[in-house]
Amino acid sequence: MKSRSIPTLFVFALTLLVAGSAIAQSGHTGGCTCGQFASKPIPWQVEHSTTAYQNAAFAEFARWNNVANIVSATLGDGNNVDLANLQNEIFFATADFFTPDTFGICIISPQSAFSGTPSFNDCSEKPVSVSCGTFQEADVVINSDFSRGFTPNGPPDFDDNNGPAYYGATALHEIGHGLGLHHNFRNLSTMNYFEDFAAQYLAIADATIIRAAYPSQSKSMTDMGTYPFRYDPQKQQYSATTPVSFSPSSVAAGTGKFTVSNMTVENVGSTNLSSVKVEFYLSTDTTITTGDIFLASFTYNSFPSSGFDDTPFVDIPVPGSAPSGSYYVGARVLQNASSTDSITYNNTWASPNKLTVTGGTSGGVCTPSTANLCLNSNRFRVTLSAKDPRTAATGPGVASSFNANVGYYSIPALTGDATNIEVFVKVLDGRPINGKFWVFYGGLTDFELTITVTDMTTGAVKTYVRPGLSLAGGADTSAF
Ligand SMILES: [Zn+2]
Repeated sequence: MKSRSIPTLFVFALTLLVAGSAIAQSGHTGGCTCGQFASKPIPWQVEHSTTAYQNAAFAEFARWNNVANIVSATLGDGNNVDLANLQNEIFFATADFFTPDTFGICIISPQSAFSGTPSFNDCSEKPVSVSCGTFQEADVVINSDFSRGFTPNGPPDFDDNNGPAYYGATALHEIGHGLGLHHNFRNLSTMNYFEDFAAQYLAIADATIIRAAYPSQSKSMTDMGTYPFRYDPQKQQYSATTPVSFSPSSVAAGTGKFTVSNMTVENVGSTNLSSVKVEFYLSTDTTITTGDIFLASFTYNSFPSSGFDDTPFVDIPVPGSAPSGSYYVGARVLQNASSTDSITYNNTWASPNKLTVTGGTSGGVCTPSTANLCLNSNRFRVTLSAKDPRTAATGPGVASSFNANVGYYSIPALTGDATNIEVFVKVLDGRPINGKFWVFYGGLTDFELTITVTDMTTGAVKTYVRPGLSLAGGADTSAF
């Protein structure tokens, strides 16, 4: 019941059983809360001036709302930033508002309703001798001048002393204070400010304390999360988070296996789950999708609410079809054997370091030629054939590159003119928008066109046929 196993899809199935793994159910809980607003959901106004940060703020409120119906965030009027107007607002301020090195702050009034002495920091229960009261106003102020700047999301950087301050982690943490949560330095928790990468996740400790503090607002939720790090409660402050690592760091395709250590799988949700699956991938970038190179999946027969597993995953095979190269390792967690849960931000991760694959296929990159149009850093190979609908004569496209993402073809076998451009094709990386590469083509001819696009990284192929006697083009925004 508490072990995970790998399906018998693989030749080495008998050796792929994972030994010694177990789902722990204590160690990621803890935290404390004191005080809250009288009525819920608590109205907040987002006072950032740019869409990116407005959306980032809404996303952080939504993470808390996944657990309980406790906040309602709307766009503010932009002119009403005030610490004493009885409106709860999140906004930027310049550095002179803060003490040095402060990413953000939550100002609650009356302060006596939230904190007292002792025990504001690192408490494991409601602070002793502090009388919690009713909040009248809370404002989250985030430092817009922090020297390394803010991004709504950033790549993993575990050097917390010097790394970037993530807007999301800071906002999530400060909103937590506005819900009455105190600091929690002995857990994986957004309320642990020593972990500015890990703090972007609303973890078990945070969900647990919210359910305890807001029982009548709590929701039934399904939320499996996976993180590229392990939190060690025996360690202190920055050193408590260890980033994911691989052993060995170089693996032979087809025969090699490797172990992933220092990763975490958590059930943040309120319900026990069965058939939870973790999949591993190799990726040339830090966005993990099912189009990446699949390695293996591990299944937990059952995964209880608030359970977690941060033990190593061993014997992950690299297929012989994987091209040699250096790859990010990625993981994806599924709430059951086939589908991810609806809380998507914590369903995948990519490692900050790369794994080297040796002895793989020599493919993996498009080589430009008269037939091959190579787009998107040579990841995609595009070929074209054309047919004259009047004569049924056929001819190949002769490719020319325009820039990294766009190219064009002439069809001299049919037109007799190598300078007569007949078709444009572009492949765009739309993954920041929808997780896919996009293919667009436009014809300047009424020949029948067959366009074949191959993802050299994964081997996936898409073919587009544009009928003859047409002048239409085409777009596929879910191509790869
Ligand atoms: Zn704090």
